[in-house]
Amino acid sequence: MKISKIRYNLCFLFTTFFVVSGILNAQNSLPVEFTASPSKKSYIGVFNKNGILYGSLNDLAQIFGLRTYINTETKKLEIASEELTLKVTANNPFVVITDKKENANLLQLPVPAIMAANSFFVPLESFMPMWKSLVPEEIIFKRTGITVGAELPKSRFDVTSVSFEEKSNGLLIRLKCTKPITDYECWPKQIGDDTWLYVSLANTRADINTIRAIKPTGIVKQILAFQYPTSVQLTFRLRGSINRAEPIVAENKTDILLAIQTSTVEEAAARKTRAYERELQRQRDKWKMDVVVIDAGHGGDDPGAIGATGIREKDITLAIALKLGKLIEKNLPGVDVVYTRKSDEFVELYKRGQIANKNGGKLFISIHCNSMPRRNRSENGFEIYLLRPGKTESALRIAEKENEVVKLEKDYENRYQQLTEENFILLTMAQSAYVKYSEQFAEILTQEMGKHLKLSNNGVKQAGFFVLVGASMPNVLIETGYISNREDEKYLKSSKGQQEVAEAIFKGIRRFKEEYEKTLREGKEIGTR
Ligand SMILES: [Zn+2]
Repeated sequence: MKISKIRYNLCFLFTTFFVVSGILNAQNSLPVEFTASPSKKSYIGVFNKNGILYGSLNDLAQIFGLRTYINTETKKLEIASEELTLKVTANNPFVVITDKKENANLLQLPVPAIMAANSFFVPLESFMPMWKSLVPEEIIFKRTGITVGAELPKSRFDVTSVSFEEKSNGLLIRLKCTKPITDYECWPKQIGDDTWLYVSLANTRADINTIRAIKPTGIVKQILAFQYPTSVQLTFRLRGSINRAEPIVAENKTDILLAIQTSTVEEAAARKTRAYERELQRQRDKWKMDVVVIDAGHGGDDPGAIGATGIREKDITLAIALKLGKLIEKNLPGVDVVYTRKSDEFVELYKRGQIANKNGGKLFISIHCNSMPRRNRSENGFEIYLLRPGKTESALRIAEKENEVVKLEKDYENRYQQLTEENFILLTMAQSAYVKYSEQFAEILTQEMGKHLKLSNNGVKQAGFFVLVGASMPNVLIETGYISNREDEKYLKSSKGQQEVAEAIFKGIRRFKEEYEKTLREGKEIGTR
């Protein structure tokens, strides 16, 4: 409906004589049906007077969810939709429809409106066309009922424009829509000093050009609008941070209002601190060293290396692993021990990492014994290995030997990639977060083992061990000694020697845990030392 600016004077006064009780007795109801939602069926109060059907405006407003305002003194009723305000005066045939810019349109009913018990009644047949301008739906009026059909397309766009209204504690963004949009999302994200408010509207077409032409005002710094084949993305860059953004359907049932509650500088700072502390706590919990995974090398059909006098590597590694586990359980309350094997059984290498990950391991220790061919029986001592491409010939040889067991596994060629330099980069990328901690632990371990064991200390080395590849946590592989060397073998096969090795490793774990958790407590960023 076109709104024209007119001035008007009321020249005539209409006087209606009418007995309230008479009307109420005659009152009846008229059904209002919604084709889109039949269950929504309502009724408005009506009565018949001189062959004219009068209907309750109050009821109509209520059914359509429009706000009403009654002035009992002036006997005026105002009904406001999003864009228009409709005014009716009792005993007066004129209906005034005003838009937001105060443009008024004066319309005349064939008979005056009637006010009875704070309810306003209008002749429906002539009034309903006026009502259509207030509501978006198609209205079909018959004396037997009102049918509210689908909404009429006013525009080929579902979202025609965007407007902003500054409030004392925030901002109201109105998405002007020509139909109710049911599938939409709105989420804020603080980036730097600004908040980006993202709004996604599914199955929607927007007048992108109009929206892009809107000049940002107030805290709105930038407006971005994109039309995708079936959806619309609107982005508002807002100055400062916000407490919350809530999308609500406007009272006209089509527009979407985004209620933005901005925050004060103090609130913003406090929230930043809270978020930082939460993140820190999350990191602390995530990294807290509460599960140690002990991996006894080899087992079952895989004996590992065979010692100078025939001792099997798998038996020594299991003995040390179990002793180490007992020490942790006894002396480090709050730390759970997970074993990849607790008996003489064969466990595939890839499964060992899986066991560690599945149990939330925070430290993975693989225990092994070294050995040399007969001519090199003098080689002795322990080594700590980090998962890296092997640099020396002996490191490569040791890794190859420890990895050889995969050949006992079915389908091993597909499961384990060649640990070439390139593969390493890819495989260990997932471990990049732990590398520094693995190094730190290896360093502590070599110090503690060197201090407490009579075995010679060959230091920290690096090689590509399959068993370490899958463990997503700080990890090391310990070659506890050379069982090809008679001295080392004698020591490692003795219960006393095994206990001492376990205790030295335990001391390393305890020291690492202390230093590691101190780093976390001090809130240093993970990954820095
Ligand atoms: Zn081994």
